[in-house]
Amino acid sequence: MEHNFDLKWLAFEITPRCNLNCIHCRTNASMNLKDVLTYKNITDAVDEISKEFKPVIVLTGGEPLLREDVFDIADYIRSKGMRVGLATNGTLVDDKKAEKIKDHIDIVSLSIDGSNSTIHDNFRNIGGAFERTVNAARIFRKLGINFIVNSSFTKRNQNDIENTYKFAKSLGASAWYMFMIVPTGRGVNISNELISKEDYKKILKWHFYMELEEKDIFVRPTCAPEYYAVCDIEARKNSIDYKRRNLSFSTGGAKGCIAGQNIAFINYEGNVKPCSYFLRYAGNILQESFLDIWHNSKIFKDMRDFSSYNKKCAACRYIDVCGGCRARADAYYGDYLAIDPYCFL
Ligand code: SF4
Ligand code: SF4
Repeated sequence: MEHNFDLKWLAFEITPRCNLNCIHCRTNASMNLKDVLTYKNITDAVDEISKEFKPVIVLTGGEPLLREDVFDIADYIRSKGMRVGLATNGTLVDDKKAEKIKDHIDIVSLSIDGSNSTIHDNFRNIGGAFERTVNAARIFRKLGINFIVNSSFTKRNQNDIENTYKFAKSLGASAWYMFMIVPTGRGVNISNELISKEDYKKILKWHFYMELEEKDIFVRPTCAPEYYAVCDIEARKNSIDYKRRNLSFSTGGAKGCIAGQNIAFINYEGNVKPCSYFLRYAGNILQESFLDIWHNSKIFKDMRDFSSYNKKCAACRYIDVCGGCRARADAYYGDYLAIDPYCFL
């Protein structure tokens, strides 16, 4: 299969500050941290990237709305012909802020990790977070702002997966993305709470049949590349004609993991990685050119060279649609080219 390795989606962590204290935060975000990247650092990188690619750039954090220049950054990205996303916890959104979002942002994602306040606030480590995030969703709906719901799961909330999906749909989200946590940042402290491999497989199977029935919103398990193997296996077994649908802001529905292939991540210190959960840095935009890192760093080149992956993946019939989670392999085995510990084939 021919692969196109254009940058289509970039998450840009513009602040490490956050008003919540989520148990799984990859950034270890805190109000005690300070912003490192200046407006100029960020826009210089955007400038450079726009010369070769036109990805959707998602402003993330921490909580990106804590940065006063967040909408100026968004405007700059748009002025270079790219679309802007905002990944927010939603707790700082009121009518006034939502109007600004409507004017400056193309797509918003809200994080909701359960269908009720007990489950979500436990995950977010702060009381009242659920009500405020749900309120943001209601304001978005009222103002006609297109939003996605991202939900992360561990053993703590895995029994609430189906309810969370239904809840996201009831809020008016245009898509629901189910995230399988990779232990990074504060997530390392809950490594013993990760969903078991056996349950992972069952959940992916549930998702496949749910997706077949779901006609109104887009759904996708994220950081669960084996899903594409599950879809093929279940479809063949039951002679189901299965075609993936794509959200206009998605990176494409053809492959489970596209870290370093079509997506990248820049953290709040300027470090560049294939994805947000990745443990290693490939370079830093304060010292090097992003495009040089994208094209020439060893990590990014390895991510695109499937023959360099472990023998099981390299020989697997699903290498072109799955490839395993390289971040999870690194977290478990200290080798990002190793087998994904969640592979059940
Ligand atoms: S490497 Fe893993 S965590 Fe990163 S994008 Fe791929 S599947 Fe997700
Ligand atoms: S062997 Fe690798 S490519 Fe095949 S299903 Fe497992 S993780 Fe995916």
